Amino acid sequence: MNYQRSSALFDQAKQYIPGGVNSPVRAFNAVGGNPVFIASAKGAYLYDVDGNKYIDFIASWGPLILGHAYEPVIDAVTEKAKKGTSFGTPTEIETEIAKLAVSMVPNIDKIRFVNSGTEACMSAVRLARGFTSREKIIKFAGCYHGHSDSFLIQAGSGAVTFGSPNSPGVTRGTAKDTLLAAYNNLEQVKEIVAANPNEIAAIILEPIAGNMGCIIPSKSFIEGLRALCTANDILLIFDEVMTGFRLGLGGAQQALQVDADIVTFGKVIGGGLPVGAFAARNEIMNFLAPNGPVYQAGTLSGNPLAMSAGLAMLQALQSRQEVFESLEEKTAYLHRGFDEKLKASGIPYQINRFGSMISLHFTEEPVIDFESAAKANNARFKKYFHGMLAEGIYLPPSAFESYFLNDAISYSDLDQTIAALERVLPSLM
Ligand SMILES: *Cc1c(COP(=O)(O)O)cnc(C)c1O
Repeated sequence: MNYQRSSALFDQAKQYIPGGVNSPVRAFNAVGGNPVFIASAKGAYLYDVDGNKYIDFIASWGPLILGHAYEPVIDAVTEKAKKGTSFGTPTEIETEIAKLAVSMVPNIDKIRFVNSGTEACMSAVRLARGFTSREKIIKFAGCYHGHSDSFLIQAGSGAVTFGSPNSPGVTRGTAKDTLLAAYNNLEQVKEIVAANPNEIAAIILEPIAGNMGCIIPSKSFIEGLRALCTANDILLIFDEVMTGFRLGLGGAQQALQVDADIVTFGKVIGGGLPVGAFAARNEIMNFLAPNGPVYQAGTLSGNPLAMSAGLAMLQALQSRQEVFESLEEKTAYLHRGFDEKLKASGIPYQINRFGSMISLHFTEEPVIDFESAAKANNARFKKYFHGMLAEGIYLPPSAFESYFLNDAISYSDLDQTIAALERVLPSLM
């Protein structure tokens, strides 16, 4: 494939935008090489500025579950735009989407819309701290909750210890309030809770993790967290920015049959526009300004264009609920196809899958947390990524990301993807 125009655009972009991108993972730093500039997309396909076509397994990192340029969403946004893009006043559509979201998701009475998943998680933690009058939170290594300070924390020296900042600019003061545990390790969380009595406001996690590849929580882990939170008056926050409205209308709470106290959303709920949201039962949400003392606001929060995209998306999902099952079947089909080719190759690998999320790690060990994900062979992943890209298959440019299937992907697209893997495998030996 020819990437001439993408390369030229990237050179220009780097002069004016740090690293040439507005979000780091787009820069291909984890896999090497230059990113591809996309000109347009429709259904399952991306088209780049050099005229190359790709089957897309990112779906804008999750939002476009019904495919690119999905007509009901495009029409809703276009119609809305003609009436004005923002007023800074309440609008009817905000209540419409709120009512619909509340009707779909278990355990929530009220929802507040923001502009990104980052904002949603940041606000959820502030609300949890305000509600419980406690300051510390527990998060899990490898779970991503956006780029706000409290979450950019890495493991300190001991296992049960304060985290340390994982980016310059995050203060030690902030880092000390975030305690870090390993995913799927309930014992460790119990130790942290025991060592910090009446100090933990919330435990936040991706109920199905998607930011270290796809990682599934064990039943005892997720149910144990729920029981631990209840016993210690800790709020359990499910970050469903990825899983919300992707695993089903009720998200991971429904899929896992575990109740959260606060749920955060992003991605699918915005239908491809910048939207995040957080939600909880009345008792908690009423703590939020202007009803309650916890401050949170946004000039463009609940923006009419964004809400029209999100509403059209949720309505489409509601009227086409079979889509979740059909996506899961397609993902299982891809899984079986990949299994067959990879087994035949003898290359060690792990595939994790839940609903329409799937990922491939080149390692012999089961991938259950950040540590096991990090042991995978990254040199092999880079070759795999670039080999697939050259075959017209657009995968996440990092081994630490889940693929997201969208409804527009056909079985013939999946067959092409599996055939591409077969052709790429010899170069990975
Ligand atoms: C993407 C993501 C976020 C951050 O959302 P942004 O809209 O990128 O700020 C938070 N949590 C999870 C689980 C995510 O996947």
